[in-house]
Amino acid sequence: MCNLLIIRDVGAMMKIRILDILEETMADGPGFRTSFYCAGCAHHCPGCHNPQSWDFAGGREVSVDELLEVVKADEFSNVTFSGGDPLYQVEAFTELARRIKEETGKNIWCYTGFTYEEILADERLSRILPYIDTLVDGPFVAELRDPELHFRGSSNQRIIHLTKEEDDAIPGTVSVIPFK
Ligand code: SF4
Repeated sequence: MCNLLIIRDVGAMMKIRILDILEETMADGPGFRTSFYCAGCAHHCPGCHNPQSWDFAGGREVSVDELLEVVKADEFSNVTFSGGDPLYQVEAFTELARRIKEETGKNIWCYTGFTYEEILADERLSRILPYIDTLVDGPFVAELRDPELHFRGSSNQRIIHLTKEEDDAIPGTVSVIPFK
């Protein structure tokens, strides 16, 4: 009982700055998804499609508990973290991802401007990886932009499956890395 109370407190206290929540979108990964667009990005990629998302003070604070309820309210949709860059709020997104996995088992995609190798080399950032099924990594590079690409903007970005449950038949999947 005590542990349950502590878990609930953490979920209520941890907050994520959210710009937008899209429900039943098909743009951010395979199938229907609930997409959380967070505020804040310091990568500042030239040609970024969403520079208004760079402001770390943008959007509004929403608790992990509230975001989890949005996920649970849709029985069928899986989940995508996008931005901005979710890894600038990695502690709260890690908590949200952990709760999603433990309480719903839903599949999670995460977009980030960091590369997979940069995340692996950073103990703090890498804590989210065990809860992520697919990482779409790397900055947007305008010279490598290709509108034909599925679920990514430029060809340097990779769709990296971290769990085997994912469909690796998506065009543009360049890596299948069983993380666990
Ligand atoms: S990582 Fe994404 S949101 Fe951030 S500047 Fe690059 S394209 Fe824009």
